[in-house]
Amino acid sequence: MGLLSLGTPLDWHESKKLNEHVRDNGITQLINIFKQHARSRNNNRFYWGDEIEYMLVEIDDEARTARLAIDRDYILSDLSDPDKPDSYLKATEKNVSFHPEYGRYMIEATPLKPYDGSSLSDYTYVEENIRDRRIVSQSELPPTIRPLTLTVFPRIGCETFTSPPAKPIGPASQSLFLPDEIINRHARFPTLTANIRKRRGRKVAINLPIYPDINTKLIDDSIPHRDLFSSDEEAFLGASKPGHVYMDSMGFGMGASCLQVTMQASDISEARYLYDSLAPFTPILLSLSAAAPIFKGFLVNQDVRWNVISGAVDDRTFIESDVEPYAGYDFFGGLDVDNQTKEHLINLGGGRGVNGDRVINNYGDTNLKTVDSKPIQKIPKSRYESIDAYLSDRTYSKKDSYFKEEYNDIFSPINKKVYDRLISNNEFDHNLAYHFAHLFIRDPLVIFSERVDQDNSSENDHFENIQSTNWQTLRFKPPALYPEDMTESQLQDKPGWRVEFRPLEIQLTDFENAAYSVFVVLLSKAILKFQPDFYIPISKIDENMEIAHRVDSVLNDKFWFKNGNLCKLENKDFAGYDLSWFDRFVNKGNDTLASENVYVNGYVSNGTMDSVKSRSGSIKGELCNESKYTTDAIINGNHEFPGLIRMIVKMIATELAPDLPQCPDTDSDLARKMLRIQCYLLLISQRASGKIPTIAHWLRSRVLTNPLYKKDSKISDSLAYDLIKDCEKVSDLDGSKDPQLLKDYFGESFASYLCAHTS
Ligand code: ADP
Ligand code: MG
Ligand code: MG
Ligand code: MG
Repeated sequence: MGLLSLGTPLDWHESKKLNEHVRDNGITQLINIFKQHARSRNNNRFYWGDEIEYMLVEIDDEARTARLAIDRDYILSDLSDPDKPDSYLKATEKNVSFHPEYGRYMIEATPLKPYDGSSLSDYTYVEENIRDRRIVSQSELPPTIRPLTLTVFPRIGCETFTSPPAKPIGPASQSLFLPDEIINRHARFPTLTANIRKRRGRKVAINLPIYPDINTKLIDDSIPHRDLFSSDEEAFLGASKPGHVYMDSMGFGMGASCLQVTMQASDISEARYLYDSLAPFTPILLSLSAAAPIFKGFLVNQDVRWNVISGAVDDRTFIESDVEPYAGYDFFGGLDVDNQTKEHLINLGGGRGVNGDRVINNYGDTNLKTVDSKPIQKIPKSRYESIDAYLSDRTYSKKDSYFKEEYNDIFSPINKKVYDRLISNNEFDHNLAYHFAHLFIRDPLVIFSERVDQDNSSENDHFENIQSTNWQTLRFKPPALYPEDMTESQLQDKPGWRVEFRPLEIQLTDFENAAYSVFVVLLSKAILKFQPDFYIPISKIDENMEIAHRVDSVLNDKFWFKNGNLCKLENKDFAGYDLSWFDRFVNKGNDTLASENVYVNGYVSNGTMDSVKSRSGSIKGELCNESKYTTDAIINGNHEFPGLIRMIVKMIATELAPDLPQCPDTDSDLARKMLRIQCYLLLISQRASGKIPTIAHWLRSRVLTNPLYKKDSKISDSLAYDLIKDCEKVSDLDGSKDPQLLKDYFGESFASYLCAHTS
């Protein structure tokens, strides 16, 4: 979590009076950030870092149970407290930093210092660092409690899923299923939970289709009739949908784990191009990392967590999300709207129909405002969603400008007042002003009473308050405000313009998490080197996000992608740079690649790519801007497009490794590193081609083939125990204990390879 100020968090009914204050000052702070950094920060190094979220799971082999441990959060304070040197030094000496997360059973860990993207060694060091995080956190825990990297705990929200047990009767979430005791003890988190509910005017409501099996009753029979809070009746007023698993609390989403990667660009222009170029890959990598087929004890008919977390923090009122209120509920939730405005809106047709162009348009340019003068707008997306618009500044790209206005083609409301302020300032062009004006349609969710008044020339908490509670697939991270008297070299040590890649589901093993992080970073470096044009309309990326939720989307579905002929990448320029390049590197088999003739898959070729010519994932037709492709084609290439792997391999060959001896002895450190990177890329390549199943696929098949499973889409306590045990064994990568399990997980040949190479 970016921001964890200490102090007294205000309840929604107090904090909402300060909404405009936070926005106004946040924008002043943003303008000051731009004044300080937009022009002056250039040539920054390509640093990067990953974030991994763990769940502490208590496993009782005798009772055959697995529970989320909600009484071990002290390890987090110990590991991040310099006054507890025994724990703290264990972390810092291993270059690890631990952070709090939403769940009391969760910890987040990052490298203490970011990695250097121009150092080949750092691309393999990351795995060591990730492994150390698990070792260090485990060393603070009894052996029965394991820090596991599960995307979703299978029985979260079921009867007794925590240790110690707790009852779902908490006032913060008012959930029928999740006790407040699962929420981080820091007051920010229960307040965040309650304020989302209060602003929204009802509990969050997430409905996932139940996986239909032969004995499945398509009904969520876990919803109790309770009479504790007035919100208890919402499930029966329309919040829960037939045939779906119903979830009513922030913890179902924010209590899931993910993998994020942050990269620093050399300057703001490069950061904007990188942000844009990564956008089309957010759904594709979500699909490739799918790891969440089970929620609240049900097998569901989808594979990823994204729409759950999106729904879990959706603070929109009925009118903003353009739906009819439940009977007896108000259109306006916790917004202060005067009676005249209310009447006017309701006369215009209530929720539906009000949001036509006439009243509430794209720019929020309307006279209808809340009492604190924020326009009442239709808002199509939750705060946790895919990005709404590209950021291009039109000057970065190598040849001409790739970006076209028409790519920003979705209805994306903005805060007009913020837009006008930014655009009147020299530092902001239209796309930048639009980006921040869109983020600033949101209200602050938690304000600390001690932090209301800030020095806008040196602090930026108000800006971060809004920025860091817009949880999109990508985050454009500006530098912070630094003291004016900082020297140039001190400044260079502080984070600059960064892009964060956020859609990935967490993987079970340190190896996979390293592989996905490294893949994203190498892809980014390859993008910056070859400057492809990957722009497609944002609406197509949103369509892909939906596709990525489907069961086995990586195998069964095609995704919108830039027409391979228009990416500004020539297949012939990438010939020879498939994964066998690494073998040739180690075995002295690469030629200089200076002539037309290069080695392709070990055979001399004249530069064409026969090996991939027949593999086509595209729909034939005229040269339209985008087309649908399989993940395989996008990652591994086809007759039109070299594929991401080749881009990455060529970047490594020509940028990370050109001066390295091409023929280290096979036992050398360099050879080992090269082969490990090859292994990371092979994992992604084979997940894309379907040779290695996704975690979601593997988990689903573990359920379907378990004798305890009754073909009713239910995950009993005992079945969940088996699954967690499987996950634990896979996490340990200990093939000696259960070789068949690892073969199921990684596919036969890859499992053998990994076991042989993992000590
Ligand atoms: P947040 O939760 O807001 O994304 P975190 O501090 O948890 O922030 O994670 C930020 C990530 O950025 C970490 O992996 C960290 O190593 C990395 N990082 C830190 N400094 C830089 C930098 N200058 N450039 C790129 N990445 C950085
Ligand atoms: Mg986190
Ligand atoms: Mg973080
Ligand atoms: Mg992050």
